[in-house]
Amino acid sequence: MQDSIKENIKNVKLKLDEAAKKSPYGNNPTLIAVSKTKPVSMLMEAYETGIRDFGENHVQEILEKYEVCPNDIRFHMIGHLQKNKVKYIVDKVFLIHSVDSLALAEVIEKESIKKNVESNVLIEVNVAREESKFGIFKEDTLALIKEIAKLPHVHIKGLMTIAPYVTNPEDNRRYFEELKALSIDIGNQNIDNVCMDVLSMGMTGDYEVAASCGATYVRVGTGIFGERNYN
Ligand SMILES: *Cc1c(COP(=O)(O)O)cnc(C)c1O
Repeated sequence: MQDSIKENIKNVKLKLDEAAKKSPYGNNPTLIAVSKTKPVSMLMEAYETGIRDFGENHVQEILEKYEVCPNDIRFHMIGHLQKNKVKYIVDKVFLIHSVDSLALAEVIEKESIKKNVESNVLIEVNVAREESKFGIFKEDTLALIKEIAKLPHVHIKGLMTIAPYVTNPEDNRRYFEELKALSIDIGNQNIDNVCMDVLSMGMTGDYEVAASCGATYVRVGTGIFGERNYN
């Protein structure tokens, strides 16, 4: 089982190379290994293959892993972030993918000042309008970004979405295309303190489709580390 992590990463990267060739944008996304629920020993297997970007969705787990992992690892907060937990991680994460309200961004601003850091964030967009999902709707995104842009210690780097769970990944292509189009629209507005360089989209089931639609990060968990056990 153990060295299958290395095999899995090799396979995912091959598929990303293939997808990039088909992409009109010509970019090859950075692979974020989603290591939530997985032990540090498994992160280190991925680390040995050169992976430095790891995705986590629980503050406590980030803190535990941060303590013991090599300091060149970049932790990405990809899960819903509660305002009262921001203070624990602003100085430990590389990028927060899940900002979907001004209130959350304001807390990130406040805690960043206290810790003397600048925070990079993505705006999470619920493109498919799923009730069960966090993120804001497409039509509200620009207004939210204009407000968050006024916070001097919070820097918007792009957009993120979690696409629906589907059996045919092609069913999500339209959502990835919509997010890409939205990021181009917003980028064209040239808002101070906002750039749209980052597009975080695609998971184990649909990362190849996302890659061909211009993703700059794909977030792959199961496809690298195997099924998660939540017991
Ligand atoms: C868990 C998770 C992933 C990875 O999901 P897999 O299907 O295991 O690849 C990606 N993005 C987010 C936001 C997640 O919570």
